[in-house]
Amino acid sequence: NVIDNRPGVYAEASQSGNFARRTTAEWQALDAAHHIHPFSDMGSLNKSGSRVITKAEGVYLWDSEGNKIIDGMAGLWCVNVGYGRKELAEVAYKQMLELPYYNTFFKTTHPPVIELSNLLAEVSPKGFEHFFYCNSGSEGNDTVLRIVHQYWAAVGKPAKKYVISRKNGYHGSTIAGGSLGGMGYMHEQMPSQVGNIVHINQPYWFGEGEDLTPEEFGLKRAQELEAKILELGAENVAAFIGEPFQGAGGVIFPPSTYWPEIQRICRKYDILLCADEVIGGFGRTGEWFAHQHFGFEPDTITMAKGLTSGYVPMGAVGINRKVADALIAAGDFNHGLTYSGHPVAAAVAVANIKILREGGLIDNVKNVTGPYFQKSLREALDGNPLVGEIAGQGLVAGMQLTEDKATRKRFANGGDIGLQCRDHCFGNNLIMRATGDRMLLSPPLVITKSEIDELVSKAKYCLDLTAKELG
Ligand code: PLP
Repeated sequence: NVIDNRPGVYAEASQSGNFARRTTAEWQALDAAHHIHPFSDMGSLNKSGSRVITKAEGVYLWDSEGNKIIDGMAGLWCVNVGYGRKELAEVAYKQMLELPYYNTFFKTTHPPVIELSNLLAEVSPKGFEHFFYCNSGSEGNDTVLRIVHQYWAAVGKPAKKYVISRKNGYHGSTIAGGSLGGMGYMHEQMPSQVGNIVHINQPYWFGEGEDLTPEEFGLKRAQELEAKILELGAENVAAFIGEPFQGAGGVIFPPSTYWPEIQRICRKYDILLCADEVIGGFGRTGEWFAHQHFGFEPDTITMAKGLTSGYVPMGAVGINRKVADALIAAGDFNHGLTYSGHPVAAAVAVANIKILREGGLIDNVKNVTGPYFQKSLREALDGNPLVGEIAGQGLVAGMQLTEDKATRKRFANGGDIGLQCRDHCFGNNLIMRATGDRMLLSPPLVITKSEIDELVSKAKYCLDLTAKELG
């Protein structure tokens, strides 16, 4: 109860002292005057005003009006160890005093990046012993492109240039990330996309599977990869990149037949398999990496978000031995960022990974909270006529809003219904994300069973309210 509950009053007790004390209206006016938000319609946002989030603890956020909000999305799927971790703050503080910055370009290195690489080699799947650092998931995928091309040049097959990804996949918002991603609305605003990237259809059974069983459909969609490789010529194809489960695309879990077939095809045609684990990594499904849940073996792993639990920005690419050996033998790798392996970010990442490992958090997601969350959601929403499917594993779930469950008929204006439901969540102090006609949850991995009860009952309330309005 550190926040003054009177509307418009931003309580002194919640302030670090870093910034001047202002009312909500003052924050909103300044925000509207000077801040362009990501993925937002600024005109309408400036009219409604943004919600000002002022502090957080565990799985809860507080806004400047004193509302306590349960964060069902762990920020943007990233605050895996939960908010308010003093040990991470202390590590960052000490590292800033000791060595706030130094680069790793010109024959230099430093203890935080060395320790992080060593620790990542311990927690990553067998064969992943090398890591390249950047600041975000998007930069991670830009780096994957660079590595893929360098690899094929190094092994004497420079013609292998095409990278295949999926429609409705998300790989970030840099030009390369947006080009790799399959979001039509992003491509429309990117007249200059990166070349040599082609998209195949996604393994979204509920929406696109028609009369096939999920297993048949999974195989069919995986075999589109083979068809595309044959069309382009295997000698011209460098890599396939995909999220083990699509996150921003709606928490789409592919049928069980999908990934084994993708892997078979990549191996048959000598194509690198790149897993984008920006959301799936660091415990989300109850495994360290989501591809371990699906049982395939990638050549590169893009990491970000849970790498530092969002406390400071950092991304990385894990490179398996085959690719790393070629890269190391190839000579100069002309790629790097001022903040590659930033000491403060690396120190926080080390402390964050130790919390995940030593606190047994990922095992807990696998054995306790994950199964409890999945079961509770299904039980709670069983009677809701809108919810046609719940996809998920561990602490991530996507709920499909449907006009008719039996025939899997989707609403013509599905996106509107998603937003309607999200507005109820907003009004009821629950963060649940809407992606078109799917509602998404991905809470911090520290969530307890009783907090899951609260999360699920709020989600049920908002989904029931949406169903009632539709009559
Ligand atoms: N890849 C995936 C799978 C993501 O979900 C995201 C972000 O949500 C990204 C890449 C881009 O990461 P960032 O926003 O850190 O650039």
